[in-house]
This record gives sequence, structure tokens and C-alpha cells, in this order.
Amino acid sequence: MDVILHNDQFIREEELVISKEDRGYQFGDGIYEVIRVYEGNMFTAKEHIDRFYASAEKIKIVIPYTKDVFHKLMYDLVEKNEINNGQVYVQITRGASIRQHHFPIDAPPVLIGYTKTVERPVELMEAGVRGTFIEDIRWLRCDIKSLNLLGNVLAKQEAYDKGFYEAILHRGEVVTEGSSTNMYGIKDGVVFTHPTDNLILPGITRSVILDLCQEAGIQVQETAFTKTQALEMDEFFLSSTTAEVMPIIEIDGQTIGDGTPGVLTKKLQKAFAEKLNLGVKA
Ligand SMILES: *Cc1c(COP(=O)(O)O)cnc(C)c1O
Repeated sequence: MDVILHNDQFIREEELVISKEDRGYQFGDGIYEVIRVYEGNMFTAKEHIDRFYASAEKIKIVIPYTKDVFHKLMYDLVEKNEINNGQVYVQITRGASIRQHHFPIDAPPVLIGYTKTVERPVELMEAGVRGTFIEDIRWLRCDIKSLNLLGNVLAKQEAYDKGFYEAILHRGEVVTEGSSTNMYGIKDGVVFTHPTDNLILPGITRSVILDLCQEAGIQVQETAFTKTQALEMDEFFLSSTTAEVMPIIEIDGQTIGDGTPGVLTKKLQKAFAEKLNLGVKA
């Protein structure tokens, strides 16, 4: 039986009551995180918790727990659900109050957390996936992990309808990120990725990968690149908490490099897997 976190209480799913006027439900007025669990341990929990608090602060939601208390709540949630390989989903909304656009003065925020079992996408990571360019029509605060995901959802659906794994979002000529992933191109041994500004979500996996590049002596340039440059890359990949280092072997029918996962991409996959200390290959 799944255990759900509701504020700081652990309850059974059927006990969960969400108001019709929860602002997450009516306005998408809240933020969220997805934390990966490998062999019972949360991976980069501190980084995810820091980002959760940072996202909340950017939209002026005050989380009524210290980070330590919150970390313990996440830990207990994983433990109670006996998650081995999986993830924690956690969100906080501005609470429930009579529907009006401005912030309520009387509503405490509403926190929900739950877990699910997820295996590593090893077959896709070995074979690589295909991406498609889609115009990035999202707002100008993509640095916030907001519950408002309409721009992301519409892009992902368009990609999915066309049979692609992920949307490669671009504002005009400039590639920003994916619908729920960060994007990287590799040219002449240098990894290029969009800088962390207001146009992309600062991925935790992204920062792990950039650290791995440094450790491996792979050059990184946090510089935006264009769609044209993307197609001319030697290698291409995306990253996220669940997709890890995922090779992109084709964009809109055009092969990248020789159309198989690239050498440096595979090197980063291996380094990532070693960091997880799972004793398995990527
Ligand atoms: C969550 C997310 C990512 C990936 O971030 P990770 O911390 O690596 O999971 C990238 N882009 C968007 C839009 C996201 O929501």
C-alpha cells in the first residue's frame, strides 16, 4: 500500500483530500521536484532540495519546514514505500483559498509527495533516441521548476505525435533545452550547452555531467548554439534525473555524427554509472 506525504503527515492514498480551490489545481501555482532513488538511496538529494527551496522562493512560497526536516520527510517517504529503484515526486502549492488571482493571506501551502518504482532506461541509453525541433513558447522564467507545464506538455505531445522521444526546444535559432531535459552538443571534443539563465531549468543532472566532464578533462562551453550548429555536432545528448545521459542520434530525420551514440557521450554515460556506484554498466 502506497504511503503519501501530505504536508508533514504520512497517509494512505485514499485518505488524501485536495481542495477544489487548491491553487496548484486552479492556477498551476506551485513548484515541484523529482528525485531519483538508486538501490534505496536518494541521488543528489541535497541539490534537489536546494532547488526545491530556490524555486519556492522565486515564486514567494514559504516552505514551512527547515531543509533538514524536509530531507527527513523525503527519506522516510522512500523508506516507508520500500523503494529500491525509483523516484520521489514532491510538489508544493500556494494552498487552497477562494479563487482570486492575487496571493491568499490565510492559506498555508499544500505539500504532496509520493514515490514510484522506475528502472534505468538502459536499452534506450545504449541505442540512443531521436529528437525534433519545436519552437520554445514558454514563459521567461524557465529557471523555476513550476507546476505550470503547458508549454512543455504541448511541445512533448507534438514530438510524441510525430514519433520522437523528445522535443528540442529553440527560441528562434537558439536551442534552449528539452521539454523536461537539458540539451548538449559535442563538436571537436568540446561539450556545448545553454548557460543557466532564465531560459532553461538548471538541471541537477546537468551539473553532475559538467563535473564529470571536468574530472575527465573534457572541455565544456556553457554557450548557446543554434539549430544549424546542432545538426552539425559530432554528438548530441540530453539529460534528466530519469533519462541520465541519453544519446540523441537523429534530429528530424538527420543523423548526428554516424547515427550511433558518440564516443564522449558513452564515456560520460560510463562515468555517470560509476558515480552511482551500482556496479552495472550504462
Ligand atoms: C526537471 C527538468 C530538467 C532536468 O533537470 P534534472 O534536475 O536533471 O532532472 C530539464 N528541463 C526541464 C524543463 C525540467 O523541468
